[in-house]
Amino acid sequence: MTIKLFNTLTRKKEDFIPLEEGKVKIYSCGPTVYHYQHLGNMRAAIVSDTVRRLFVSAGYEVTHVINITDVGHNVDDADNTEDKMEKGAKREGKNVWEIAKFYSEDYFKCLELLNIPLSSYNFPRATDSIVEQITLIKTLEGKGFTYITSDGIYFDTSKFPSYSELAKLDIEGLKSGARVEENTEKKSITDFALWKFSKEGEKRQMEWESPWGIGFPGWHIECSAMSKKILGPHFDIHMGGKEHIPIHHTNEIAQSECANGEKYVNYWLHYNFLNDKTGKMSKSNGDFLRLQSLVDEGISPLSYRYYLLLAHYRSEIQFSWEALRAAETAYKKLYALASEWNGLYEKSEVTPDRESMLAYYEALYNDVGTAQALAVLWTMLKDEKISDEAKHATLLAMDQTLGLDFRGSTKQIFTIPLEVQKLLDERSVSRAEKDFAKSDELRTAIEGLGFAVKDVGAEQTLELL
Ligand code: AMP
Ligand code: ZN
Repeated sequence: MTIKLFNTLTRKKEDFIPLEEGKVKIYSCGPTVYHYQHLGNMRAAIVSDTVRRLFVSAGYEVTHVINITDVGHNVDDADNTEDKMEKGAKREGKNVWEIAKFYSEDYFKCLELLNIPLSSYNFPRATDSIVEQITLIKTLEGKGFTYITSDGIYFDTSKFPSYSELAKLDIEGLKSGARVEENTEKKSITDFALWKFSKEGEKRQMEWESPWGIGFPGWHIECSAMSKKILGPHFDIHMGGKEHIPIHHTNEIAQSECANGEKYVNYWLHYNFLNDKTGKMSKSNGDFLRLQSLVDEGISPLSYRYYLLLAHYRSEIQFSWEALRAAETAYKKLYALASEWNGLYEKSEVTPDRESMLAYYEALYNDVGTAQALAVLWTMLKDEKISDEAKHATLLAMDQTLGLDFRGSTKQIFTIPLEVQKLLDERSVSRAEKDFAKSDELRTAIEGLGFAVKDVGAEQTLELL
């Protein structure tokens, strides 16, 4: 069965043809680790993992990269604003390296809670490929694509005629609509920094020697360098949020194609946003929802995965607790059914229902049609002609691509066990009575059951240990 993907480059759904038979190489723009990841960032991870699983199900050998941006870039594209990592460090009284370590570990923990297997990915950190980034900039310089200003080395976009292709940019429109240029030395509004100089008299926490002096890389170069290092100069699929189309990915294409002298990526996949009341959920919005916020409400991370699968990756999702809770109810039903059948048909050799699987893959391979694929799943469950044993086998086969852990093999499925809830209730009483010895004792007992308790004001919240 052919896999069809909507390619941003052509604005068309295309049949996927790999560069190398039986293999697929994928790069997803990953998180900047200066804060916790919000639910929108986790949408990025879930879409990436669904695409990876889809290719595995079709028999491909998948190499998938999700980069960790641990170099602080500027808070927005204006070059003179504060760097995100330094800002995070200041906020918490730590250094940038500590911030990067803490938040990347937290990100990995979130991935595990979402049943995204860490061992299936490469997670390169930007700080580990500074040499490769410098090499790429040197190549661009050697080929005449760069120029120098007082604050850095810039890419000259006028030298790359197809610059506006991915985003269908209207460069003239951009020019006339531009605010007062923040860097008056830039030759064109679309030119971008490849290397920034550390300011004189200012010691940055992250800075490196380079042929152009001490400084730090521009934001876009890291993805070109890391993808080349792991996947080669030309690879199959690049994914990211749709906000990356006009700047980040456009710039990646320009610098990679000019440096390498060949096409960069065959298929560009862009997912849509998870919105909150203010629009696109974002970290700079201080008050964002993260996976832990759901856990605090007693909602399992995999219910969130199910909730996202109900929408197409190219559709916007307006986050709603009500819709999430409805998704959780449906997911729990499926999970309970699977658990019951897991016990009954543990040694079953019955194969999945062929017709349902065909319909399922047809939906999924049509540009990652997860909502339609889930509809096929529910239709299959209602079909009286299919035995429960075969339904069980079908559910597990579909779960290879859904990633909803119907086997219950991991400890992520998360509703607060009764035993833990009882201890929490007792602890609530002992805290109110200021019996701290008893409260500590209960904390240890809860930890013994695999949960960490945090006191937030009068409330207690739980985290998985
Ligand atoms: P960041 O850490 O902001 O660089 O984002 C990491 C990844 O999450 C990128 O691929 C973004 O496109 C994606 N992302 C950020 N915010 C959202 C959102 N609200 N909805 C969906 N994806 C998002
Ligand atoms: Zn990127």
